[in-house]
Amino acid sequence: MLPALIATPGRRPVPHRLDGAAAVLRAVLHRGSPARTEIIRETGLSAAAVSRHTAELLALGLVRQPPEPDQRPRPGRPRIPLDIDTSHHVVAGVHIAVPRLTFSLTDLRGRVIARERVPRLSRPSAVLHDVAARLPGFLRRYAVGHSVLGLGVVTGGWVDPDAGVLVENAALGWRDIPLRRLLQPVVRLPVHVESHARALAHAELLFGTIGGGDLVHLFVGNAVDAAIATGGGLLQGRGHGAGGVAHLPVPGSTAPCPCGRTGCLQVTVADGTLAQRAAAGGITARPDLRLLLRAAREGDGRAMELCRSRLRMVARAVRPVLDMISPDVLVLTEAATLHLPHLLPELSGELGGAGDLVRTGSFGADTLAVAAAAPVLAAVYQDPLGLRTAGSAR
Ligand SMILES: [Zn+2]
Repeated sequence: MLPALIATPGRRPVPHRLDGAAAVLRAVLHRGSPARTEIIRETGLSAAAVSRHTAELLALGLVRQPPEPDQRPRPGRPRIPLDIDTSHHVVAGVHIAVPRLTFSLTDLRGRVIARERVPRLSRPSAVLHDVAARLPGFLRRYAVGHSVLGLGVVTGGWVDPDAGVLVENAALGWRDIPLRRLLQPVVRLPVHVESHARALAHAELLFGTIGGGDLVHLFVGNAVDAAIATGGGLLQGRGHGAGGVAHLPVPGSTAPCPCGRTGCLQVTVADGTLAQRAAAGGITARPDLRLLLRAAREGDGRAMELCRSRLRMVARAVRPVLDMISPDVLVLTEAATLHLPHLLPELSGELGGAGDLVRTGSFGADTLAVAAAAPVLAAVYQDPLGLRTAGSAR
C-alpha cells in the first residue's frame, strides 16, 4: 500500500499552507532553475530549511542540479541552480469520456510523453476492467526505466477525490462508482481520482501560462463542469460538489433534462446536443461533432453560428455565478474554441467582462492527456515527501 500519496478524508489541497519541501519544489517548478538564494526569497524559508528540503528532494529524484558550464571555483556562496528532475519519475493517467478513454504518461513538468486513445466500453465494470487490462502494456511501451508515481483517473461530473468516488456523471450515466477502491488493487499503483474541471484547474495552477490570481475553469463537452481556484487552491465545497454548473438554467432553453427540469445547461449545450443540432439543420450528414468542427474550420457560416450560439448560451447560464465570484480569468475548455480561438469574444462579449477575462486553456491538443495525469502531479507537488513512504511504484 502507498498511503502517503493517497488523500485521506478531510485533507484539502491548500497551497498557501504548503510544507517546506512542497514550497521549495513549487519554487523550482515556477522559477525555472532558480539558485537557492532565489528559493529562500520566494518561499520565505531559512537558508538551513531550504538546504534541508533541497537535500530531501534531490534524494527523492524530484529535483536535480544541472551541471554548471563554468566549473571554476568562485568566492562566496556558489550559485547552484536547481531544476525539476524529469528523467526519473513519470505519471500515468486515464481520462474517461463519453466516446473514448485517453491513456497518458507525463513527466513531472506535466509534459505529455505518450498518449493512446481507445473507444470506451459501456458499463463501468467493463471500462475499469479495460483500463486495468490495457495499462500494463501502455506502461511497458512508454515507461520502462522510469518510476511511475501513480495513476490519475479523471472524468466529468461530480467526483469526490478524497473518497476516490465518482459521485455522478450524467453524461456517462454513472453514479456512485468507487473508482479508486476498484482500480487500485488491480493496477497496483496509487490511484488519484478527480473531476475533469478540477484536474485541469490543478494543471493550470502548476504548469499553465495563465499566471496567478483567482480563476474559474469551465469545461464544456458532453459533461459541463466548473472548477474555482482562489488563493492558489481549489474550492472543494460540501461533498466536493463545488463547481457543479450542469443544471444551471439557460434562459430560453426548453431541452428536457434527466433531472426532471427543462433548460439545464448541460443538456442544452453538450457536445452530443450540438452534434444533433448540426445534423438536424443539415449542416452535417450525421450527428458527429468532428464533422461540425471541420465545417466551422472550413468557414461554413451556419456551422460557425451554431458554435457561436453555444457560447452565448453558456455565457447566459454562467454569468450570474461569475458575477458573484468575479475571477481574474475564466479558462474555457471547449472543442470549438480549441480549434477556433477567435470565437472566444462571443463568450466574453455576452459575459460583459473585460476583454482579457476569457482564455483558452494552456494545453491545446494535450488537454485530456494532461488532465488525466494532473491529480497525481497535484499530489506530488502538494506532498513531495509522501514519496518517501510511497517508495518506487515500479
Ligand atoms: Zn437538469
